[in-house]
Amino acid sequence: MDYASFYRHSIDDRDAFWAEQAALIDWKKPFDRVCDYDNPPFAKWFVGGQTNLCHNAVDRHAATHPDRHALIFVSTETNQEVTYSFRQLEAEVQRMAATLQSLGVKKGDRVLVYMPMIPEAAFAMLACARIGALHSVVFGGFASVSLASRIDDATPELVISADAGSRGGKIVPYKPLLDEALTLAVHKPAKVLMVDRGLSPFTRVAGRDEDYAAWREKHAATVVPCEWLDATHPSYTLYTSGTTGKPKGVQRDTGGYAVALAASMKHIFCGQAGETYFSTSDIGWVVGHSYIIYGPLIAGMATIMYEGLPTRPDAAVWWSLVEKYKVTVMFSAPTAVRVLKKQDPAALSRHDLSSLRALFLAGEPLDEPTAKWIAEALGKPIIDNYWQTETGWPILSLCNGVEKADSKFGSPGKAVYGYDVKLLDETTGEELTAPNQKGVVAIEGPLPPGCMQTVWQDDERFVKTYWSSVPGKRVYSTFDWGIRDADGYFFILGRTDDVINVAGHRLGTREIEESISSHANIAEVAVVGVADQLKGQVAMAFAVLKDASRAATPADALKLEGEVMKLVDEQLGAVARPARVRFVTALPKTRSGKTLRRAIQAVCEGRDPGDLTTMEDPGALQQVKDLIQG
Ligand code: AMP
Repeated sequence: MDYASFYRHSIDDRDAFWAEQAALIDWKKPFDRVCDYDNPPFAKWFVGGQTNLCHNAVDRHAATHPDRHALIFVSTETNQEVTYSFRQLEAEVQRMAATLQSLGVKKGDRVLVYMPMIPEAAFAMLACARIGALHSVVFGGFASVSLASRIDDATPELVISADAGSRGGKIVPYKPLLDEALTLAVHKPAKVLMVDRGLSPFTRVAGRDEDYAAWREKHAATVVPCEWLDATHPSYTLYTSGTTGKPKGVQRDTGGYAVALAASMKHIFCGQAGETYFSTSDIGWVVGHSYIIYGPLIAGMATIMYEGLPTRPDAAVWWSLVEKYKVTVMFSAPTAVRVLKKQDPAALSRHDLSSLRALFLAGEPLDEPTAKWIAEALGKPIIDNYWQTETGWPILSLCNGVEKADSKFGSPGKAVYGYDVKLLDETTGEELTAPNQKGVVAIEGPLPPGCMQTVWQDDERFVKTYWSSVPGKRVYSTFDWGIRDADGYFFILGRTDDVINVAGHRLGTREIEESISSHANIAEVAVVGVADQLKGQVAMAFAVLKDASRAATPADALKLEGEVMKLVDEQLGAVARPARVRFVTALPKTRSGKTLRRAIQAVCEGRDPGDLTTMEDPGALQQVKDLIQG
């Protein structure tokens, strides 16, 4: 079928289309209704059906191909390389599931996972899915305040963590950050399950902290069957940043997610059972959930879980894995490619990459020089794809499994089947149908299977945040600007809100501002995202001091800047640390008191700040200009 017809079928015959895709997974009980959209914007997919994500990702393959590779763990930090077959993965997941049950975790409970990229993190996620508990993975780069706010929102029964991760050969202890977070959090999980890698000694809290090695031993042969769950049963929550300081718990279902991932593996990624998939992301992000853990395994592929840098021991390390494990599909982020581009180009030709069919890139805009460099260096198709934590799988991409299409540099492709993508005028909400007009990228409800069901414990916020931003229309806003050309290819032009994207990591500027404001000498602060050659964007902070004399000399200012950065490191994690913190006597504001973040950003990027007629004090923007130019 040609892609245009396939796409139209998915929109015009929605239920028939998704019923066909649903055959890609196993169902314990067939569904009665494909889509219940009686209460928009809340969509229920595959109502009445029962299935299990872990069964589809692990057990069904263990039954038919027990000895096939399932999980390949490679750490260039600890020099470990371990391969688990589907049979072995099934056994490990059951040991973990039995442990969770012994520690009181039941269906519907939350389990917070704060772990480095180690196999036990995958076992934990799959074990939760197996017993119907919801995992909530928090990226290991987040520090205690970020972690505490997620603990309070998810209210987990149990937290699973490890003594430490390692980055670039440096041990990064996790337990002290977790202990601090548990002190800060109002909610106190009953149990903390610790995986001890022997990297960093840690203290145990008696009665609360449990040792996974001992439990694993105890449950070496315990059988824990998959719990058959309603298709609409929530499988996990994953926190993401938005305009307000408080992160949102994106809640995903079970059946719709399994079907959406299975379909994407077939139509977008073109991965076959028995092959190897390599995604270089982290389990703390949505790409890690969908395309390190669930997607490849559901498709019966082996998945590589990599702990380490792309440049250590040298810039050929990823390509050596492609050769060794005959990777056919690879998924990474533009930032990683830009890092590799700065290394020895010979690294790319040292290994046999003949198994590789395509490299998928997502998470941030893919600039043309980076796309061209990697396309030429690899001699393989580079497929940019655009999506969000909220959607769980690509909104825009090429669907080469349906019909081969060429990429256009700078474009993540066309609307993916199932997504009724529209471009809307920001102020009127009118649909922009002519080519090359700039509008807000929006999706007509219902969102397809696999997308967020709601904001965890906050239906109102789901409606208010995502479905109420375009005047007069109940339509899902992505909060991205985009244009569509005459061939239906989209181009993404950045966020419409205060979210920034640093090296593919999505951060809310408000969260960073809140952290900086907690410094005793900061009266006010504005954080903006500024274009950066390597990371796409970096955070820049402009702060007003309570006592300006503390930054009177350049040396004092530098010292204070260091203090503020350390504070952000300790509270949110190094991932959120601004590139610079500069001190001003006033922030540029409108007469009604709104901080002109876009004007600050424009000045930092050397652009025209636009219409400033509503600005209260032009001197404030001049200060920013002087600092940037000085
Ligand atoms: P996250 O939820 O962390 O995956 O971040 C989603 C946001 O990242 C999107 O709303 C976009 O702003 C940006 N993004 C993701 N993929 C792309 C892409 N291929 N091109 C441009 N921007 C992207």
